[in-house]
Amino acid sequence: EESSIQRDMEKLQDTFPGFRQKYRLIKRIGEGTFSTVYKAIDLDYWDYDNSWDPEKDDTFVPPRPVGKYKTMQCVMDRLWFDEEVKRKTRKYVAVKKIYVTSSPTRILNELELLHDLRGCEAVCPLITAFRSTDQVCAILPYFRHADFRDYFRKMTVPDMAIYLRSLFTALASVHSHGILHRDIKPTNFLYDPDSRRGVLVDFGLAEREGYDCKPCICHDDPVQRKAKLRAAHLASSAPHNGYPREDTRPSRRANRAGTRGFRAPEVLFKCTEQTTKIDIWSAGVILLTIMSRRFPFFNSADDVEALIEIATIFGQKRMRAAALLHGCMFETTIPTIGSSGFSLESIILWSTQRDGPGKGLSDEEKLAVEFLGKCMELDPSKRLSAEDALSHEFLRMGLD
Ligand code: ADP
Ligand code: MG
Repeated sequence: EESSIQRDMEKLQDTFPGFRQKYRLIKRIGEGTFSTVYKAIDLDYWDYDNSWDPEKDDTFVPPRPVGKYKTMQCVMDRLWFDEEVKRKTRKYVAVKKIYVTSSPTRILNELELLHDLRGCEAVCPLITAFRSTDQVCAILPYFRHADFRDYFRKMTVPDMAIYLRSLFTALASVHSHGILHRDIKPTNFLYDPDSRRGVLVDFGLAEREGYDCKPCICHDDPVQRKAKLRAAHLASSAPHNGYPREDTRPSRRANRAGTRGFRAPEVLFKCTEQTTKIDIWSAGVILLTIMSRRFPFFNSADDVEALIEIATIFGQKRMRAAALLHGCMFETTIPTIGSSGFSLESIILWSTQRDGPGKGLSDEEKLAVEFLGKCMELDPSKRLSAEDALSHEFLRMGLD
């Protein structure tokens, strides 16, 4: 294991001419679905007045575009080198080696969005990126952080407010650029409990709002929506048990990228016009995780199971209403899904084993739960925006 990491590090350094003169890899710090991330020393650190000029630097020769890498070359041509970010970067950088199996358009998307978001508070900026044939590396300032599993159980309510304030600050700037992150979860929000600062990373699944949208039934007016629904329901109302064997209903396709357990209900219901509100739901799931002291809180194998988990909390009635918003019918005979579900307060009391008589939430916790309810609102149009969240009393608690 240790030696295979060493071998990968050697290989990476050999992939790019001049890499060893720029960076010294220290260790592997992350291995995700789409990349391997290393901590490295930026060797320019010792020579800041002599700041690196990529135009003149002969070690920075982008290879000629070939075939499908043409797209990639366009990125690299427009990708620059962010002097501003570079100047602020200290000794360490994070080298994100993006897997060669990622499509060029996908990599292009991530780098472009990061470039658009430069200067946003609480968003990890991009220093530069380079490519050698199919291998792309992004260089980011290294951000010291702790493992979520090591600190979330110890967080007090004010700690939670400060953590979330930082996360929602990042979301507010990302959303104001019309960008959805799509993968909000603890490993993509790097947080340092000592300095109480955090940065949002990983724009690998991010997209521009409205980019992937097809007109969606959810955004029809209620009369139209009902008519469409009735027609769809008639087509499938033959009696059946369990999954229909021959489902005659039109199939639905929507972007479902993201991480299990953090997907918003409208994503699970395959709404095609997804908005920045999907990130707010995921941030809510993080808060629920912290307050219930359980990680992962949701643990479903697929979307249907994920809906069942959500339904167990919210109950059939509210789930049915939420489904209708997206032109879906929600029906279940699962006995653990009650008709009106549970309050978030009772879920938290139960999962922290405080559901006995005379035990309850503190006033601070009640405020946090009230906020949580507005993030985990089934109807995206009623869910809090990041901007609104920042003026909520709970997040303002982080200011004193
Ligand atoms: P992936 O797309 O593979 O999930 P990420 O961008 O989320 O890649 O990075 C994976 C992990 O690498 C993160 O969870 C974090 O632990 C680490 N990491 C990423 N960027 C940085 C950074 N700028 N500073 C420190 N660690 C980082
Ligand atoms: Mg990640």
